[in-house]
Amino acid sequence: LLRLQEVEKRFGEFVALNGVSLTLRAGSVTCLVGPSGSGKSTLLRTVNLLEPIDGGGIYLRGEMLGFTVNGDHRRPVRKKAARRQAANFGMVFQSFNLIPHLTATENVMLGPVQVLGADRTAAGEQAHELLTRVGLADRFDHYPAELSGGQQQRVAIARALAMKPSVLLFDEPTSALDAELVAEVLAVIQELAREGYTMLIVTHELAFARDIADEVVMMDNGRIIESGPPERILLHPATERAQKFFASVS
Ligand code: ATP
Ligand code: MG
Repeated sequence: LLRLQEVEKRFGEFVALNGVSLTLRAGSVTCLVGPSGSGKSTLLRTVNLLEPIDGGGIYLRGEMLGFTVNGDHRRPVRKKAARRQAANFGMVFQSFNLIPHLTATENVMLGPVQVLGADRTAAGEQAHELLTRVGLADRFDHYPAELSGGQQQRVAIARALAMKPSVLLFDEPTSALDAELVAEVLAVIQELAREGYTMLIVTHELAFARDIADEVVMMDNGRIIESGPPERILLHPATERAQKFFASVS
């Protein structure tokens, strides 16, 4: 479904992604792990077209994202095309990013109404359906400040789902949460996996990664240093770097 081929991203002289290749099959769950600064968030942001890449390519169902290629020349796609391509991805951030003066329902409706041009009644009904699905049927009209962190994050997940994305991207969805709220968010993500969503999840929750992932990918210094089934990568990492990292987080 999604393929990254030798993706490069630089910030000035600094190489944040150094030839990253990765394939997500439809319906698969990939967990991305690695030390701070290894490029995990940058990778999600390039997929989402929030950051233009400097080399390589990102392909969704075979369509190159972000650029059109003409012989050796690549040109950024136009704004409208970029927006259409980015709409294939639903992103959930560590810091929820809800709009404080909108209720849970209004936060979930916003994208469909403003970006997809859905009518308010239909978008409202869909928002209620999605909020119910993430266990918030009794919180439709609450404002973010009136919700716990775990509840806010579940609103953020409902908001991402409202755009009917092909791929869901999660950037440390539970690391801003108190321990007792982590489980409720992970349970929602697990349910989405069962429903067949294709997901790329940056996480430090290794037990969760072991349960949910079809593939675990470990990054270090802008490169993928190991990838494979969770049992192998998490329990029997081949590189010393990965062994050290897993020992430090578990
Ligand atoms: P963490 O686990 O701390 O979230 P990460 O793996 O997500 O780390 P990234 O946020 O992808 O790491 O950052 C990778 C590197 O790229 C870091 O060294 C960071 O300082 C650098 N970087 C990221 N964004 C920018 C930017 N906009 N300008 C300059 N450097 C950046
Ligand atoms: Mg990050």
